[in-house]
Amino acid sequence: MSSLSKDLDKLTYEEIEEAFKTYNDDKEQIEVIKKAYEFALEKHMGQYRKSGEAYIYHPMNVALILTSIYADYETISAGFLHDVLEDCDCTAEEMEAEFGSTITKLVQGVTKLSKIHFSTENEYLIEYYKKIIVGMSEDVRVIIIKLADRLHNMRTLWAIPEEKQKEKSHEALEILAPIADHLGIHKIKSELEDLSLRYLKPDVFYDIAEKLNKTKIERDKTVYDMQQEVSDLLNDYHIPHEIKGRAKSIYSIYNKLDKGKKFSDIYDLSALRIIVDTEQECYLALGIIHSKFRPLPRRFKDYIAMPKPNMYQSLHTTVFGIDGYFFEIQIRTHEMDEIAENGIASHWSYKENGGSDKAANLTNTTEQKLQFFKSIIDLSRDKMSSEDFVNSVKDEVLNNNIYCFTPKGDVIELPKGATPLDFAYKIHSKVGETTVGVIVNNSIVPLDYELQNNDIVKINTNKNSTPSKEWLNIVKTTQARNKIKNFFTKNEREVYIERGKYSLEKELRKRKLVFSEFFSDENIKKICEAINCENLEEIYLTVGNGKTTPNGVINVIEKKDEAVVPKSIKTIPKNIDADIIVSGIDKVKVNLANCCNPVFGDEIIGYITKGNGISVHRMNCHNLENMDDRTIDVTWNNNNNKRYLTVLMIYTKTSDNHMVDLIQSISMININIEGVKTISRDNITYELSCYVTGIEQLDKLILAIKKNSFVEKVERAFR
Ligand code: MN
Repeated sequence: MSSLSKDLDKLTYEEIEEAFKTYNDDKEQIEVIKKAYEFALEKHMGQYRKSGEAYIYHPMNVALILTSIYADYETISAGFLHDVLEDCDCTAEEMEAEFGSTITKLVQGVTKLSKIHFSTENEYLIEYYKKIIVGMSEDVRVIIIKLADRLHNMRTLWAIPEEKQKEKSHEALEILAPIADHLGIHKIKSELEDLSLRYLKPDVFYDIAEKLNKTKIERDKTVYDMQQEVSDLLNDYHIPHEIKGRAKSIYSIYNKLDKGKKFSDIYDLSALRIIVDTEQECYLALGIIHSKFRPLPRRFKDYIAMPKPNMYQSLHTTVFGIDGYFFEIQIRTHEMDEIAENGIASHWSYKENGGSDKAANLTNTTEQKLQFFKSIIDLSRDKMSSEDFVNSVKDEVLNNNIYCFTPKGDVIELPKGATPLDFAYKIHSKVGETTVGVIVNNSIVPLDYELQNNDIVKINTNKNSTPSKEWLNIVKTTQARNKIKNFFTKNEREVYIERGKYSLEKELRKRKLVFSEFFSDENIKKICEAINCENLEEIYLTVGNGKTTPNGVINVIEKKDEAVVPKSIKTIPKNIDADIIVSGIDKVKVNLANCCNPVFGDEIIGYITKGNGISVHRMNCHNLENMDDRTIDVTWNNNNNKRYLTVLMIYTKTSDNHMVDLIQSISMININIEGVKTISRDNITYELSCYVTGIEQLDKLILAIKKNSFVEKVERAFR
């Protein structure tokens, strides 16, 4: 079906080298190509494709496709190497040492593109994916390698499941074939289209193929006769020329059928291409042909005077030919033909080969790139000059927006300066709302990190987590800002209710009261009366929004103020400097025991040491069990603002390492971590040391840790 097809089993390196030599025989360049082949061969050793053949046949075929569009030696070498960084044990450094930075950069570019997953769900995205491919490929040769890569994958598509076949075909048809067209690489464009059609609409594809086949012999004879007539005519006028009969691609026929035409009505099923030496001869030939064969009205197109954006040039006409057949005739010069078939890429090799004169005009690399940029963008629907348009697109793609990726390779477009929270909200509001941490390119970053182009962003979420109002100062997109605001107006009440319930539970636990018993119907009634509420939910709400304290609620039922308010606190003069008040003693050396690490707010007790002042322990520290006679009452000084070391044992349900998630969840609530150790390896246990302001923050910390689904339980450590 295509001149590019190649019997996989029989493809050898020598054939690829021969193909290159037909347009370039530079010995040094061939050496590099060969080296790239050998390098890839070694690196892919032992790897196989889904189709069953050795992996190396894939890069070899890609290289062969690249020779068919006269790609330069660097492009072909990169074609051989294009999957090595992704799939093999090879670093960019190693490749650069062997092949230099140009080839390595090409391979890196292809690798980068291959990580992106382009879904083709709507038209807007398709336009935008094209822009991304263009915007991300600093060197247009990257795109060309990508096209060759995809073409070979499409040829071997039968090896993958049907659903994937359709997905790949859509992507090829809607994104890659148009890019090939923009770049003027007709060969690749048209084969991609035909292959896609074969998988997307097999019945249509085979129906057209069969009809073409049936009429082939007759058409072949007519085409041959017509070719003779036209050739004789041009010879009469002494115009040197070459004539090719031309098969229309199945896809182009499908396109016309799809627009409602009948198969028998498609007049340019038979087509001729006339290739002459000069532009003037093109017009001359056209005139001569029209004088003999009557042209169809409105079918004449002059793409020489007005080239297509991809620099395609040619004259098109349709005439009533012999035997009553219509013929579509294209007339162009050799060079125009070259560009039409292979794109401008083909000129690079000509340049190095000291080839055609016109091609030599394109020696400046920057100029070539600009030409490519121009060619990529379809100018027809825009009135701007090509340069302005290119600049504006580049600006839009490269300056105002950044493109970041999910770990799966989905593209997320964001304005410059956007943060991971913007990214998270762009994926889904649920993702945004439950964000607890971010990893960019494998490193942890803060939520206000400024995302860079091409960052790979992993958002860690926790289904129990909710947005913070501070986020409003962090996010850059209105979309995210509105969603956060929305959350608060909608959910503030819920959040407060939850918070109030939590504080009440905590306080009841502290007083050794059972939650369900405490909130009996009778008690709820009493509390509601006392603090002016309607129901239990409102009780939670008043506590959660700070209108009442948990003690205020509990004390309605349990008149035991003394249990929480230390007896001595009012009677003892406060030593403002000290964080511990020892009853009856003003100045004494006090230190916090490091076996149980009490923090502000813990129930504590002092132990009178021999010669080292008073050591303060938590009330339930096992080291105190047999020391009753030397203990002394101590209380916290409410005025202190110290931070206290606390050590937590975190038991997990899994042997997977969640250190990163753990640290993420802790840093989210603004707590300084002193250290984390992994204790057991089976179900991992972490020993976490950090500083907290007191029991309230410690409770928050424990809660935050418990929200991680992998956590089994959290305990404060005793030694
Ligand atoms: Mn590949």
